[in-house]
Amino acid sequence: MSSCNHPDIESIVLSEDAIKEIVARMGAKISEDYKDKNPLIITVLRGAFVFTADLVRAITVPCSVDFMAVSSYGDGVKSTGVVRIVKDLDTRIEGRHVVIAEDILDSGLTLSYLIEMLEARHPASIEVAAFSVKDIPDKRPAIEPRYVGVHVPNEFIVGYGLDYAERYRNLPYVGILKPEVYS
Ligand code: 5GP
Ligand code: MG
Repeated sequence: MSSCNHPDIESIVLSEDAIKEIVARMGAKISEDYKDKNPLIITVLRGAFVFTADLVRAITVPCSVDFMAVSSYGDGVKSTGVVRIVKDLDTRIEGRHVVIAEDILDSGLTLSYLIEMLEARHPASIEVAAFSVKDIPDKRPAIEPRYVGVHVPNEFIVGYGLDYAERYRNLPYVGILKPEVYS
């Protein structure tokens, strides 16, 4: 980890160069696996939009992109995974090979619920490409992503699409927020 000049960031977890390498590797693997499959890359807004933009440019085979937005039910702090579709896909996914691009996988509850909803539409396949997965001791996420970019420490991180109160999504690197920013 290195320090940086942003007044709110304690340390950098992933530099721009590190991110580039990770996404290039994921794109190469997906290109290999989805040759002739014309995959549909789905972004769940908003956090994954930056990752998706880079990922699709690292994919060298024909593919398409669509977006959806979900919102959690209730106001609990802990995610139950039960979500409501706020913006649905514009694409019919029946018979399509779907890859969901996710920014960070924590409990994986939201995504596992979403996958269940999408499976009811009978796609040919659904896989997850998670840019990052939180390393939580003795806890495994509810879903097993086919593609994992990087494991990150169990800290609240921002940047590269990830926000705190809608800020910091535009940072080109991933960093840990200073605790005083929360309080
Ligand atoms: P899950 O359903 O996997 O527990 O929730 C994952 C979602 O929680 C992510 O898509 C992201 O929106 C949010 N999240 C989880 N960990 C972090 C984090 O460290 N930083 C930020 N900014 N968001 C996080
Ligand atoms: Mg998200």
